[in-house]
Amino acid sequence: MGTTAPDHDAQMPAGLEEDLAELYDAAPCGYLSTLPDGTIIKVNQTFLTWIAYDRTDVVGRTRFQDLLTIAGKIFHETHYAPLLRMQGQVSEIALDVVDRAGRVVPVLVSTTQKRSAEGTPLLNRTTIFNASDRRAYERELQRARADAEAALAVRDYFLSVASHELKTPLTSILGNIQLLQRRVNRENSLQGRDQRTLQIIADQTSRLNKMVHALLDISRIETGQLAIERGTVDICALLYRLVDEVQTTVGERQMEIRTPLPSIIVPGDDLRLEQVFQNLIQNAVRYSAPPTPILITIQSEETRVAIAVADQGIGIPATALPHVFGQFYRAANAHSRSAAGMGIGLYIVQQIIQLHGGEIVVDSTPDVGSVFTVRLPRA
Ligand code: ADP
Repeated sequence: MGTTAPDHDAQMPAGLEEDLAELYDAAPCGYLSTLPDGTIIKVNQTFLTWIAYDRTDVVGRTRFQDLLTIAGKIFHETHYAPLLRMQGQVSEIALDVVDRAGRVVPVLVSTTQKRSAEGTPLLNRTTIFNASDRRAYERELQRARADAEAALAVRDYFLSVASHELKTPLTSILGNIQLLQRRVNRENSLQGRDQRTLQIIADQTSRLNKMVHALLDISRIETGQLAIERGTVDICALLYRLVDEVQTTVGERQMEIRTPLPSIIVPGDDLRLEQVFQNLIQNAVRYSAPPTPILITIQSEETRVAIAVADQGIGIPATALPHVFGQFYRAANAHSRSAAGMGIGLYIVQQIIQLHGGEIVVDSTPDVGSVFTVRLPRA
C-alpha cells in the first residue's frame, strides 16, 4: 500500500463517493467564510437559499453583519465580535438574519477564526444552523405553557369564587334546617315519614356543606392562604372526642384507641387537626364494613407522636397508593364501593399535616386493610 493518505471513502459503496464541493454546497447547514471585517468571501448554496440571495450579490460585497436585524447587528458588535477576538471561536450564538424579502430567519452561529503564526486574524469560518423550526417549537411550548397557566388561574378563580359564594346560602340553609329539626323534635309536630325526609335533607345539606368547605380549603391551599393557628392540642383527648362523635353518627362500629399516655400535647391547630383525624376515621369507616374494628394506635416517639388509623377494609391497590394524597384522586375499588367522596380529603389532610411540620404515610393491602400513620412534632 505504501504511504498514501488514508482513504476516508474506503467504506463507500462504488458510485457513491462524496464530492467535496457538493458536500459543501448542499450541506444541511450554512457555511460562510469571511474576512476579519466580516466581508463574505465564500458561501454555500444552503445559506444562499435561506436568505434568497445570489452568490454574486454577497461575495466580496456584503459583510455578514449586514445581513442581520438591527438587534442582531448590535449583538454582533457587543458580544459576537469581542468574544471571537478574545477566544478565537464562538459557538451557538443566536442571531436573526434578514432574507432578501425582509423576512427574519432565526439562526445559530458558530465561528472559528483562522490566525497567522503571529496571531493576526486571517479568516472567519462560520457554520450556520437554521433555527426556525426550533424557535417555532420554543414559541409553541411557551404558548402552551401560558395557556396551561391561564387555565389553572381560571380554575383557581372559579374554585375560590364558587366555594365562597356557595358557602353563605348553604350555612343559612343548614342553620334553618337544624332550627326546624329542634322545633319539630320539641313539638313532635311531624309524622314519621316527614321526619325521615327532614333528616335526609339535613344529612345531604351537611354533606354539601362539607364538600364546599373542602373546595374552599383547596382554593386556600392553592393560593397559600391555608392558615394554621399556633396553639396546643391534646391529641389523646381530641381522638377520644372524635371517636365518640363518629360513633354517634355511624352507629355501631367497634373503635378502639390504644395510647401509652392519657394525654400527649402537640403544638398546632385544634380545628385543623380535628379535621385531619375526622377524615382518616371517616375513611376507615367508609372503606371497611362492620363488624371489622377500627383501631387507633398512638405511639410516643423521641421527638414526635405517631398516630395510626387502621382498618380491615377494601385496602388500596399498589398502583393507586402513590396517588391517594393527590387532588381529586379516587382508587378504582373506591368507586364501586361508595358513591360519596370527591377524592380531595387526603390531599387537604396531607397539606395540614405538612403545615404542622409532620408527615403522613399509608400502608395498605387490598382486601386486608389500610393503615394511615400521621407523625407530628411534640410540644
Ligand atoms: P374520598 O372522598 O374519595 O374518600 P380521599 O382523599 O379521602 O377522598 O381519599 C382518596 C382515595 O384514597 C379514596 O377515594 C380511596 O380510593 C382511597 N382511600 C382513602 N382512605 C382509604 C381507606 N381507609 N381504605 C381504602 N381506600 C382508602
